[in-house]
Amino acid sequence: MMRRLLPRCAPRATAAFIAPRRSPLGLFPAARQYSISPEAASETKLQDIDPSKLVLTRTSKPKPLKKAEDLVFGATFTDHMLTIEWDKTTGWHNPHIVPHQNLSLDPASCVFHYAFECFEGMKAYKDKAGQIRLFRPDRNMERFNKSAARIALPNFDSKALIDLVAKFAKLESRFIPEERGYSLYLRPTMIGTQKTLGVNPPGSALLYIIASPVGPYYPTGFKAVSLEATDYAVRAWPGGVGDKKLGANYAPCIVPQREAMSRGFQQNLWLFGEEEYVTEVGTMNFFVAIQNKQTGQKELITAPLDGTILEGVTRDSVLSLARERLAPEGWNIVERKLTMAELDEAATEGRLVEAFGAGTAAIVSPVRAISWKGKMVSCGLKDHEESGEITTKMKNWMEARQYGDEEHEWSYVC
Ligand SMILES: *Cc1c(COP(=O)(O)O)cnc(C)c1O
Repeated sequence: MMRRLLPRCAPRATAAFIAPRRSPLGLFPAARQYSISPEAASETKLQDIDPSKLVLTRTSKPKPLKKAEDLVFGATFTDHMLTIEWDKTTGWHNPHIVPHQNLSLDPASCVFHYAFECFEGMKAYKDKAGQIRLFRPDRNMERFNKSAARIALPNFDSKALIDLVAKFAKLESRFIPEERGYSLYLRPTMIGTQKTLGVNPPGSALLYIIASPVGPYYPTGFKAVSLEATDYAVRAWPGGVGDKKLGANYAPCIVPQREAMSRGFQQNLWLFGEEEYVTEVGTMNFFVAIQNKQTGQKELITAPLDGTILEGVTRDSVLSLARERLAPEGWNIVERKLTMAELDEAATEGRLVEAFGAGTAAIVSPVRAISWKGKMVSCGLKDHEESGEITTKMKNWMEARQYGDEEHEWSYVC
């Protein structure tokens, strides 16, 4: 018989009236803030996640392994899942690892009505010695907590969850192929489970982690993409939640993506405002290498974290590697706003060196061209090239740390 599992989410108390709270900025903030600093739903010290209480229920039907070359991103899952329930009177319950299985949720659960959902995307890698490694998991946990807090879901101790992620990844290690480019994609997810149509902070929640073995993003080597500069739809805006990994940010981007694809472009390059600032590409951060018009100095540019840009772990890692290894070669590493017109001008004048997207799934994704106002802005690649020099270097530098070829504090041995 199937073990009745998740979640026992009928709330014991109906959502209490929540008194409006004074903004921490005061009633009349002096400066315009792009993002409010939300506090987590859990206000009193409730029980935090406790890894020592982990209960493991192994599957009785281990899945056969797929051939490594047949892996499709996000299509197959490992044997188990990690689940931790939360409610507002207890806090976090004991963590469980159970067979990967369906959830049972009341159709009134608040996740289905008001999008109480946030998630993370991270990977576990197998090194040459067969050890499992995470990459900068502290960054993912910090971001997960920020996303959760913004939608009144509970926070947790990052270290405790990293410990559990590590145990979970190790348990599933047979699913991780040894070869370079392969990894286990981990999807931490948090949902509000309270059974209510009331628009209130969820009184109960479920945190779960599922895992999907994935192959190299470019199995036959880099493939440069072409983008459509998108101005008729906006991905994120000042004061919005585009800097958080909330599920609600993604569904509205699919129609513009389908539009771009119907015209032969793989992704949207999201522009913002009348200035047409270049923000992100699809669900990746965006980098350009250009030669400065005045000084001729080479610059690696990405948009600043102004509340409209997702704080990519890859973005941060690329910036840090660039400051460490490109700056000594004379590069200027800059976080600043860049307009589409500036980018176009650099391309026209032969100063656009290369452009790429950056995110966990692909690490880096080279860009061939951008369609903008009816013209094609070429991003520096020759016809026979699929990637620029900096893009290729970045991928290799990142992988060396992810797979533990280069021992580094970013790599977390499980
Ligand atoms: C997840 C995500 C990224 C990349 O973040 P990483 O931590 O590098 O994977 C960039 N932009 C958006 C919109 C994202 O959702």
